[in-house]
Amino acid sequence: MYRFSSVYLDPKGSPIRALYKHLSEPGMISFAGGYPDPQLFDVTGLSAASDRAFENSSACLEYGPTEGTSGLKNALVQLMHERGVLTTPENIIVTTGSQQAFDLVLRVLVEQGDSVFVEQPTYSTNIQAVQAHQAQISAVPVTAEGMDVQALERMLVAASAQGQTPKLLYTIPNFSNPSGATLPVDRRIRLLQLAVQYQFVLAEDDPYGGLRFSGETVPSLMALASQIPGAKDWVVHMSTLSKIVAPGLRVGWAAAPVEILRRCSVAKQTADVGSSPWVQRIAAEYLASGRLNAHLEHICAAYGAKCRALVHGLRHELGEAISFHEPSGGMFVWARLTGDITAAELLTQGIARGVMFVPGEGFQADGVDRFTLRLSFASPSLEEVAQGCRRLGEALVAARAARSKQALPA
Ligand code: PMP
Repeated sequence: MYRFSSVYLDPKGSPIRALYKHLSEPGMISFAGGYPDPQLFDVTGLSAASDRAFENSSACLEYGPTEGTSGLKNALVQLMHERGVLTTPENIIVTTGSQQAFDLVLRVLVEQGDSVFVEQPTYSTNIQAVQAHQAQISAVPVTAEGMDVQALERMLVAASAQGQTPKLLYTIPNFSNPSGATLPVDRRIRLLQLAVQYQFVLAEDDPYGGLRFSGETVPSLMALASQIPGAKDWVVHMSTLSKIVAPGLRVGWAAAPVEILRRCSVAKQTADVGSSPWVQRIAAEYLASGRLNAHLEHICAAYGAKCRALVHGLRHELGEAISFHEPSGGMFVWARLTGDITAAELLTQGIARGVMFVPGEGFQADGVDRFTLRLSFASPSLEEVAQGCRRLGEALVAARAARSKQALPA
């Protein structure tokens, strides 16, 4: 029959997409996907931006430059500036979501057998992306404060002794998906120093940094890189409008050294010729409208309230049976069941009671910890969050009962 590429012979899909079929079940409360709340989209602002884009439609209905339209690139330079990063349009490529940015970076840097370091846990789709490039993946542990940079250092020393240092390290330093953790500034600085010392590219994925609802902003790796000699050459920063404006735009970008971007642009030609100039125009109009900051304030307040409701609900309904750290932004709570019930067992009982989440295995390169789970508070309403937690409490009782039934002698 078909002679598929070895990478796609029997590919595992995303653990999140595998749960999709349950989403449409009546009354289902989902803590599963990292989907923004559609009630929080700035539809008025986007539709006005779309009208303005349409007024000058002819240019943006044509093919556009592969690396992105100058209008959007200029707006993104401005946005990066507001985030403390000084960059230029030449250092930016517009991508079809930040998902594509990582794919392009992998394409231009990574070959079969190359060493790539990722955090453990990390974003499941990007584990798949690294696997698709047939790299050797090494997992760097994550603590409540993000990547364990001391552990990383030990791994680098060992890798270097064997002549196998990584080409690339993938990290999500702000409100990580799935851990919710944020890397403190001292660890960021050490990470940058290590990148310079061991000469690997630091792929900084930052979809959630704009969604802080408590505490102080921590400068991005790219912002800090300008303070550390040589570090600017090693940082690729990826971000997106998906979580702060709308994922349906599919507008993301990478800011990186020109040497890397030039190659990403060639790789993008064969991927999609270029991201939609039409949508880029809408995005540029939206950013130029000046509505984003007020919108961010509004959505951060809403996500903060939902996060607190989830944290309260989990503590109240599951008590000692679950442990987690409360995030100060983003969309996720990463939790661990403290007893002998696995996340998969809880999920089975949860789905039967109209609540779902994602078991943690898919977020681990080695997939061995069966007691972790990711809960997103982004899309359910406050009432649904509370109700979902009650259902989780019931699901845990049911999972324990099912377990003791199995244990009974026949
Ligand atoms: N990186 C991370 C960590 C994510 O959570 C996501 C979306 N879930 C992406 C990248 C991709 O986002 P997009 O392609 O919509 O920009």
